Amino acid sequence: MIGIIGGTSLGQALGALGGTTTTVETPYGLPSAPIAVTSVEGVEVALLPRHGVGHTTPPSAVNYRANLWALKKLGVTHVIATTAVGSLREEVHPGELVIPDQLIDRTHRRVGTYFDELAVHVEFSHPFCESMRTVFKASAASAGVTVHPRGTYVVMEGPAFSTRAESDLHRSWGADLIGMTALPEAKLAREAELCYAAVSLPTDYDCWRPHDGGREALLQEIRNNMAKATAAAMKLVRAALPQVAKLVGTPCYCQTALDDAVFTDPKAISPAVRARLELLLKRRLG
Ligand SMILES: [Zn+2]
Repeated sequence: MIGIIGGTSLGQALGALGGTTTTVETPYGLPSAPIAVTSVEGVEVALLPRHGVGHTTPPSAVNYRANLWALKKLGVTHVIATTAVGSLREEVHPGELVIPDQLIDRTHRRVGTYFDELAVHVEFSHPFCESMRTVFKASAASAGVTVHPRGTYVVMEGPAFSTRAESDLHRSWGADLIGMTALPEAKLAREAELCYAAVSLPTDYDCWRPHDGGREALLQEIRNNMAKATAAAMKLVRAALPQVAKLVGTPCYCQTALDDAVFTDPKAISPAVRARLELLLKRRLG
């Protein structure tokens, strides 16, 4: 099954697709919302609005561990995440889409791992599933939307947007996008051996670029472009879904990420920890 985590605006658009909702318990509590299982483009999907029904949960408070765990528990192997972002590049226009390939972590008050009770160090040089990224890029033409094939995404804590100095700093690092949610989501997906890729929706130019109309113009720009970006993302997701479904069952690095990553001697892992993390560890440890 394919999971779709819908970000700002798209979470609501996905809700309109309906489906049978199920409340999934996890060791970390409940995910952002009950998960709706339905068929989209002939593919069985599990839909989860990242910010909850009615957009009640801000980025820092999202229960990322519960969200990924719940999808894995339902049998999801591939996760499509959508994220609203600001553009740090003139050529990445609001309303277009980006398939990010890199992340820079500027979050500081989120739990970013399932493995606090044993030493597990996953390889993370390429934080997104390359197989899924290839599918998204190839689906752009049939979706009829403009898709930028790569981008470095800075994940900030928020909830306030950047200062001008921060926005300039992120650009000087070579970053292309600024957002608040792709981490720790991508790290947790790798730890859970899920293929995970993002479709980013630039809604604005952040504050590095002068906005006509004063300081409130940035927020107006975000609101004005949200519907256009959401419509484009829905087109791309629909076009890509049947191709993503074809990846299910084919080997991918993401799905064996724990093979060399468990540094703790398995004999030293307590039965209680093993039982709690069984969903993640059973493939690797038996
Ligand atoms: Zn993968």
